Amino acid sequence: MERFSSRALVLSCVDYGEADRIVALLTDGRGRLSAFARGARKSRRRFAGALEPFTLLKVQLVETRAELCRLEGAEVLEGFGGLREDIGRVARASYASELVRELVREREPQEELFDLLLGFLLGLASAGFGPQEMMRFELSALAAGGLMPRLDACARCGEEGPRDALFDPEHGGLLCPRCAAGLGVRVSAEASRLLAALQRPVAGAAEAAPPGHVRAEARALLSRFVSHHLGRRLKSLEFMRQVGIEA
Ligand SMILES: [Zn+2]
Repeated sequence: MERFSSRALVLSCVDYGEADRIVALLTDGRGRLSAFARGARKSRRRFAGALEPFTLLKVQLVETRAELCRLEGAEVLEGFGGLREDIGRVARASYASELVRELVREREPQEELFDLLLGFLLGLASAGFGPQEMMRFELSALAAGGLMPRLDACARCGEEGPRDALFDPEHGGLLCPRCAAGLGVRVSAEASRLLAALQRPVAGAAEAAPPGHVRAEARALLSRFVSHHLGRRLKSLEFMRQVGIEA
């Protein structure tokens, strides 16, 4: 049985039995792991309330023959305090964590997604990232997970900035009317340009905020893409809707 320590972000937690807890962790070297924390809800000594979602930990883990690792100890490196004061930030952090959990396979190293999620949570806690940063994060996370929608050209024939383009998640993004042949939903040039711009690295100067209806259209396209490729609508989207937060 191998014993190791790692930095890890807590993606989610589920209580188990009377006193235990199972945590989904994104480690920086070994990808996503599920760990069993015996006595987590009774022994404050070993875990000291560290096993909460959106926490950066230094964890000590033991590989077992079972699917779950055993969590031996956890120390909080960053609690993202500024994130927990605001329900909207909690909702966005939940969505980001759920998306990452779906994009990473168990035990597949994914340092890029670890860094992306850590950076997003830090930004959310300190700067209160809004809907545009949320979409930027999603597009980067999708790209890191091997799912990057093509938004500047037709995904089939490569025609750049096609007029009257359609959006089809199945075929990887934009389609020109010729290639679409009845597939996909209409997409405005403004919405596809906004999403394409959010796929590019941030360019120093602050970007102008797009009109609300363009952002809403881009949001709907992105959600359609995510649920198509993950095979379901993420639960935290519903949570965002309930607390009245624009994803
Ligand atoms: Zn085409």
